[in-house]
Amino acid sequence: MALVVQKYGGTSVADADRICSVARRIVDTYSEPNDVVAVVSAMGTGTDDLIALAEAVSDRSHPREMDMLLTAGERVTMALVAMAIQDLGVPATSLTGSQAGILTTGRHGRAEIVEIRANRVREGLDEGKVVIVAGFQGVDPDSKDVTTLGRGGSDATAVALAAALSADRCEIYTDVDGVFTADPRVVPGALKIDEVSFEEMLELASGGAGVLMPRSVEFGRRFGIPIHVRSSFHDGEGTWVKEETMEQAVVRGIAHDISEAKLTVYRVPDTPGVAASLFEPLADAGVTIDMIVQNVSQEGSTDISFTVPLAMLDVAEEVTKTVAEDVNAGGVSTDREIAKVSIVGIGMKTESGIASRMFRILADHDINIQMISTSPIRISCVIAEDRVSEAVSALHAGLELDGEALQ
Ligand code: ASP
Ligand code: MG
Repeated sequence: MALVVQKYGGTSVADADRICSVARRIVDTYSEPNDVVAVVSAMGTGTDDLIALAEAVSDRSHPREMDMLLTAGERVTMALVAMAIQDLGVPATSLTGSQAGILTTGRHGRAEIVEIRANRVREGLDEGKVVIVAGFQGVDPDSKDVTTLGRGGSDATAVALAAALSADRCEIYTDVDGVFTADPRVVPGALKIDEVSFEEMLELASGGAGVLMPRSVEFGRRFGIPIHVRSSFHDGEGTWVKEETMEQAVVRGIAHDISEAKLTVYRVPDTPGVAASLFEPLADAGVTIDMIVQNVSQEGSTDISFTVPLAMLDVAEEVTKTVAEDVNAGGVSTDREIAKVSIVGIGMKTESGIASRMFRILADHDINIQMISTSPIRISCVIAEDRVSEAVSALHAGLELDGEALQ
């Protein structure tokens, strides 16, 4: 009998009817027959609602209590799904992340899974039960406190559990048909991708494609677990995320992200150690940096720009201003209205001229590029946020992703 790990996202369990249809889908998979572990997210906008509630009660940060609060969202869903499955005549049991043995670091709000002791999950399966696990959460074995894995973390729970249990497949059920060549809300002609490599998916997810949490893709790659991203509303095939794909696309897809801001420090002395003196305290403050651009030095000083998540901007600004004063820099400016547009494809490793095509398309639309960064299979440009839809649409058409994919 195969072991299947399924994950159901918030929209798939948004109300009682949807919970019942998820229960039916789980029971169908169980009856094939398979062993089934289902990881569930909070219902609908449950997590956002809880965050709003916390903000209404307190404007201070309460990392531990926040995790206590947010883990409740997934806990509601797991119990309801287990009840609905039992009513269909199939034995089911629900487990919190902690009960499922998901051990994490102690960093509240962004904990990392360090180990999974899945014996209770295995016991449930051995007893012939469907095991429902609350996504996005675990426990720090030192403090015994519950933790959350960061937004979208149920994906990571599912893939990590699939790896720990050596599952035969991992299915991520969502409200879209799979991974698309661009966000279909921005580009109506975007196409569903049948297969994408872990490497490409990691770049797309990190570039802002919200369909999978980047860390879940990393787990998939590290443990060789193919991930099937598919719709919970019908039975059609979705997108397979796996090691090797049949076709090696030059450009597989486009991702965009409007959740970052840009900080620029002007006239930093161009001497050894200055970058370290800026980025060390930022790292200590837990700020994750994405792109960094340092200009050519002029008269012994240089400008450094970098991007940070909007959610960390306040801390980043504070630290940056302090460092700027310490090193006698010319000043600090902040731009919240930026967007990052990334094109991703494994074929870029061998095919030249893709960057220049991207820049030409943006130039023809009179869209200014503020920053550029690349990896062997990705090119990202920071542009003004109000031009992002136009940029994504223009690149999608110009790189022929709408049909005759550039191959
Ligand atoms: N409920 C959490 C969130 O909204 C985790 C998840 O759904 O993956 O981010
Ligand atoms: Mg998600």
